[in-house]
Amino acid sequence: MIGLPMTVPAPGLPARVRIHEVGARDGLQNEKSAVPTEVKAEFVRRLAGAGLTTIEATSFVHPKWVPQLADAEQLFPLLADVDAALPVLVPNERGLDRALALGATRIAVFGSATETFASRNLNRTVAESLAMFEPVVARAREGGAHVRGYLSMCFGDPWEGAVPVHQVVSVAKALLDLGCDELSLGDTIGVATPGHVQALLSALNEAGVTTDRIGVHFHDTYGQALSNTLAALQHGVTTVDASAGGLGGCPYAKSATGNLATEDLVWMLDGLGIETGVDLAALTATSVWMAEQLGRPSPSRTVRALSHKE
Ligand code: MG
Repeated sequence: MIGLPMTVPAPGLPARVRIHEVGARDGLQNEKSAVPTEVKAEFVRRLAGAGLTTIEATSFVHPKWVPQLADAEQLFPLLADVDAALPVLVPNERGLDRALALGATRIAVFGSATETFASRNLNRTVAESLAMFEPVVARAREGGAHVRGYLSMCFGDPWEGAVPVHQVVSVAKALLDLGCDELSLGDTIGVATPGHVQALLSALNEAGVTTDRIGVHFHDTYGQALSNTLAALQHGVTTVDASAGGLGGCPYAKSATGNLATEDLVWMLDGLGIETGVDLAALTATSVWMAEQLGRPSPSRTVRALSHKE
C-alpha cells in the first residue's frame, strides 16, 4: 500500500499553502442528522492534531435555518484548548454578538455574487446583503477580529447559469471595501474550469485586488476541484478551502455535491512538494473515524484509497 505520493515539484507554484479547513462547518451543516457536540469537538481536535492550522468551527446562524449547528454556543467553549485558528461564520449582527461573547477572534460572512442565490439564501438582494454585512464587518474589526468574506456562486448559479466575471469582481470589491481581510471565492455548484478560474483571478488583480487576499473554495461536483486548485496555485493563490473527508455541499443548491476533500488536496500538494503542515495519515484516520460517526463512507478518493483493507 502506498501511503504518500512521490514528491516531484513543478515550476511556478507556491512553496507553502494554507488550508482553510471547512469540514466542521460547511461539511456538518449539510449532514441530515445532527452530530453530537462532543463528536464535533473531537473532530476539530483531531483536525488540529493532524496539522491543520485554520479550522472553521461552526456557524452562529439562527438554529431555525441550520439546525445541525444549533449547538455553536456549547461547542465553541469546548475548543478553547485547540491549537489552531478557529473562524466562525456569522450571518448578521446577532450572530456576531453571540460569537464575540464567546471570544471568537476570526469571523466570516457569507455573501453571494448572484441575485437569485442572495434572494434564496439570504432573503435579500445583493445590495441589501452587503448593507447587512457592513456593521458586522465594522464591529468585528473594531473588536480586533479577522474577517473573511465568502463569495458564493462565483462561476455559475443553478438558476442564473453562467455568472459574468465582472459581476463577481464587483461584489468581491464591495466585500473588501466593507473591510474584509480576505475573500474566499466559492464555486458553489462546482462548474468552474481552470481557464475560468484564472480569468476571474486576473480580473480581480486588474481591479486592484491582490492575490494574497484571495482564497479559493472549490466543489468537486463535475470532478474539477483539483484542476481548478492547481490553476489557482499557478496564479499565486496560497489559501485553499477544503473539507476533511469531502464532507458537505450546499443546502441551498441541491445540485452541489462535494466540497474538495482535504485529503485529495493534501495528496496533490504533498506530491508537488508544497508545504501544508498536514500529516496525511493522521488526517485520513480522522476522516475514517468521522465517517464511522456519520454511518457512511467518506466520498474522498484519497481517504478510500488509503483506508482500503486488502
Ligand atoms: Mg463548500
